[in-house]
Amino acid sequence: MSGGEFDLIQQCFVSKASYSHAHTVVGNGDDASVHGLAENEQLVVSTDMAVQGVHWPDDFPLDLAADRAVCAALSDLAAMGAKACWAWVSVVAEDSDALAMMGLGVGNALNRYDVELSGGDTVHAACNSLNITVAGIVEKNTSMQRNKAKVADNIWILGNSGLASLGLQQWFSGHKDADFVESFSHIEPKLKQGNLLREMGVRCCIDVSDGVLQDAGHISKASQIAMQLDVEKFPDWQRLSEKLGDEKAMQAMLSGGEDYALLFTAPANMKGLDKLATCMGVCVPGSDVQAYYQGEMIHVVKSGYDHFASK
Ligand code: ADP
Ligand code: MG
Repeated sequence: MSGGEFDLIQQCFVSKASYSHAHTVVGNGDDASVHGLAENEQLVVSTDMAVQGVHWPDDFPLDLAADRAVCAALSDLAAMGAKACWAWVSVVAEDSDALAMMGLGVGNALNRYDVELSGGDTVHAACNSLNITVAGIVEKNTSMQRNKAKVADNIWILGNSGLASLGLQQWFSGHKDADFVESFSHIEPKLKQGNLLREMGVRCCIDVSDGVLQDAGHISKASQIAMQLDVEKFPDWQRLSEKLGDEKAMQAMLSGGEDYALLFTAPANMKGLDKLATCMGVCVPGSDVQAYYQGEMIHVVKSGYDHFASK
């Protein structure tokens, strides 16, 4: 990038993200940022890559791609029950127009969720990608984790499942205004809801980025329990099965990623969860995740996205 690099960073990123966090001691512009934490708080940190042609289609608008990349990163904080505070955004851009579009999307998403842009890095190369690091705060020893599910816990989903993957398919098949495209292009990190679940006492949660079966599998493995899911109880079952038929609906709901719903487990006697989420399964002794339809175990061909599958 030319002599204008620092002006460009200022123009495209720093000036677009307006939120400043009260706990920031040294903000964007120095070699590193500095942030304070209170005695009873812990820092929660996550990082995510988003690459053109891998995480979004080549012809997808770059501002929306950057917006959803930030939302996907924030979703990891939601899954831990953290309050999102800071982001560091490293960008590779093919030209200054691409940089400006990505800066716009980053700023929009961060401003929507009151997250400060605390730093980043900017590189000019022949591709477009972002690395988003986010940090938040959680009350000491209350973060929700994958290894905290217990036998007899109910399994809940907060948000949709399958719609974003259907939207992406519609985009690729040239139907760019089709009904599910919006579910891919605009995602919502469930930050308020994640924090609320944690406050209500939920201790086991994951965000669904790679498909329900795959992500439930992470809980099952980490918690050493088996999970039984009932597809007819999923919030989108009725709508999807009517529209696509049972088989395709199951495939999308169980294997389609990118919706960023929260999947969590909680003891059966926990009150108030049904106002936020949908109960669609139970944890039992054993291992693995099984999905059921009309009482019969179903077999899903493709279980979720794997970047290194058959490479
Ligand atoms: P350094 O050489 O010290 O690593 P840089 O020259 O890469 O710093 O960046 C200068 C300042 O601009 C740093 O404070 C950095 O955090 C910030 N910055 C660079 N790129 C971005 C970006 N895409 N978004 C936000 N801040 C950025
Ligand atoms: Mg430096």
